[in-house]
Amino acid sequence: MVDREALVAEFCELVQIDSPSGGEGTIMAVLAANLEALGLATTRDQAGERIGAETGNLIAKLPATDPGRPVVMLNAHVDTVQPGQGIVPVVEEDTIRSAGETVLGADDKAGVAVILAAVRELLTAPFPHGEVQVVFTIAEEIGLYGAQYLDYSLLSPNYAFVLDGGAQVGEITAGAPSARKMTWKVHGVAAHAGVHPERGTNAIQLAAQAIAAMRLGRLDEETTANIGHIEGGLARNIVPDYCEVWGEARSHCEDKLEAQVAHMRECFRSAAAAYPEGRVEDQVETSYRRFRLSEDDEVVRVAMTAATNLGHTPVLKIGGGGSDANVFNERGIPAVICACGAQGAHSTAETAIISAMVSAVEWLVEAIRVSGQR
Ligand SMILES: [Zn+2]
Repeated sequence: MVDREALVAEFCELVQIDSPSGGEGTIMAVLAANLEALGLATTRDQAGERIGAETGNLIAKLPATDPGRPVVMLNAHVDTVQPGQGIVPVVEEDTIRSAGETVLGADDKAGVAVILAAVRELLTAPFPHGEVQVVFTIAEEIGLYGAQYLDYSLLSPNYAFVLDGGAQVGEITAGAPSARKMTWKVHGVAAHAGVHPERGTNAIQLAAQAIAAMRLGRLDEETTANIGHIEGGLARNIVPDYCEVWGEARSHCEDKLEAQVAHMRECFRSAAAAYPEGRVEDQVETSYRRFRLSEDDEVVRVAMTAATNLGHTPVLKIGGGGSDANVFNERGIPAVICACGAQGAHSTAETAIISAMVSAVEWLVEAIRVSGQR
């Protein structure tokens, strides 16, 4: 039986420890101590040094009681988005929210709390299970850096459950898009706007022309694109000689993504061509790569079976965002994103649903019970 009061208490304790991306030192120390108190061996990897964060990823292993069964990795990220300092959790019946000034941090401390509670259940589980490898990652929110620099040589999972989903237990995210981020540095020529405007080349106008010609938003059911940031110019009376534009594109189809990125770059190129003195430098980076699992994949089958066994309706979903699961799949670890009781992530209206967190723990324990079951 999941101890609801203990789960709520632990969650509330965790969200009160500030853990912005890169500043996860304190919370990782607390989590390591909690896991060690349960008798698990813990290690910290070098990811923190690689990216200039306070600590690396935390890895803890619960030994198998039946080594013939799959090794299951459980993951949640411990960093939270802004505004996320000084979080005050408020418990109201079945809901936990922030006092209003900050996010709650259920993304993803609900996942962390669910994993800790599941490990506690497994310690006295009346059924055999394979090794459980707990991985708490850093710096997910700023670019999946913890997962990217995770020391995979310390791990050997057959598959992974990423507890970073919503509040509907049984909902399993089995696919996510690829994403590229783009930066354009637009160069024009500065001039006095009133005296010699003809000597100038307006970098902001050049960028505006490029963006106005661009296909953006939802392009088809698999593909989206956005221009999210623009800055440049010095004063009202100077023709601006520089501006910078940030954009992104995502697609579940690699070819469509390539085509969209090429289109966005071409818009800037042809806009620049219309301005003899204009020049554009662009930079394209891969943010993360797509994945798509199906019911043929063991991790999906196990996740769905566990949901069905507990009376939840399993729902396979394809997500529109990136998460550590993208990186795990890219590294050859089949990973799905599962519900952890969190709702309304990345806003001050974020909540955790206590009954959903309890169900998520029960589901996770069940998923480990049915792993490798014949
Ligand atoms: Zn998250």
